[in-house]
Amino acid sequence: MNIGIIGAGLSGIVAARDLVRHGHTVELIEKSRSVGGRLATRRIGDGKADHGAVYFTVRGEALKQDVADWIERELVRVWYADPYPRYVAIDGMNTLAKHLAEGLTVHLSERAEVVMLENETVVVKTDVTTRHYDRLLITSPLPQTFDLLTDFAVDPALRELTYAPTFVGLFEFGSEITIGHEGILDTDLAPGVLKVINNHQKGISATELVSVYMDESWSEEWYERADEDTLREIERLLQSVTGSAVIRSRQLKRWRYAQATDVWAEPYYPLRDAPIFLAGDVFLEPDDASGRTRFESAYVSGLRVAEAMR
Ligand SMILES: Cc1cc2nc3c(=O)[nH]c(=O)nc-3n(C[C@H](O)[C@H](O)[C@H](O)COP(=O)(O)OP(=O)(O)OC[C@H]3O[C@@H](n4cnc5c(N)ncnc54)[C@H](O)[C@@H]3O)c2cc1C
Repeated sequence: MNIGIIGAGLSGIVAARDLVRHGHTVELIEKSRSVGGRLATRRIGDGKADHGAVYFTVRGEALKQDVADWIERELVRVWYADPYPRYVAIDGMNTLAKHLAEGLTVHLSERAEVVMLENETVVVKTDVTTRHYDRLLITSPLPQTFDLLTDFAVDPALRELTYAPTFVGLFEFGSEITIGHEGILDTDLAPGVLKVINNHQKGISATELVSVYMDESWSEEWYERADEDTLREIERLLQSVTGSAVIRSRQLKRWRYAQATDVWAEPYYPLRDAPIFLAGDVFLEPDDASGRTRFESAYVSGLRVAEAMR
């Protein structure tokens, strides 16, 4: 089968690997310049900072075997355990996505704009070209997915799922900074601050680069304000951790759809009247113990939807 996948985040990559392994012709369409989606790492000067997923955990069997393999291949390692292991990619989370996508056909910097059906074929119009598939998988966050599916019937309850934004401030310090024992603080922080991470202590940055994750309600409240005001306020809140240490440079990352505020209790969603499937981190297995969207839910959703599409 000739299969198209919109979105080269973790779920799209995992699904593509499985489908290719089973002999299908697969191509991914990704609007960004790089694969990985919310597994995102930014280079700043000589350093690197994760500004999407911070770490991942493993609860179910599906991911366990691959993580053991990734550890052996030195792609991931345990950062710390509290009490269960927090895994990180050795060179930043985006590097793991790049490794997993090696050998796959990915059309980067290409945005899917319209999806339609012509006879039995799924047609995807992008800002670059028109592509035709026997089957299509869409893995973008749901609001972006529904922009593409205006002509198709989808369960109204799925359309009602909403997402919260997240701001991440990235700060480069000129001297050594110590954030907790392991490079992470996630308790007793200023109101609105969810996590503070030193990417140098985390082991991915040669320089002192600190990522500050703001919580959902703070990010919602600040979403419409100017970037420079938002960044200045995050810097002010960070001072309760870093005191008067000198900041060399600062950047802001804005995630419109960081995390779904509710989840779908099936690992993927097949459209009723078209060979189109939806997957991604919001689609959880019914017995998912955590009930939260995360790295592992994206991974499992990618695996399960590939099985269904085959
Ligand atoms: C700030 C932040 C912190 C997080 N922290 C953690 C954490 O500590 N631990 C954890 O487990 N998880 C964390 N997560 C969640 C985790 O990163 C995600 O659950 C997971 O990466 C989602 O993968 P995905 O494939 O479902 O979606 P995505 O990674 O969002 O992939 C979807 C892809 O679709 C592309 N796309 C969208 N629309 C189009 C279009 N029209 N055409 C072409 N391409 C398109 C996007 O560019 C993107 O690459 C965090 C997420 C964020 C944002």
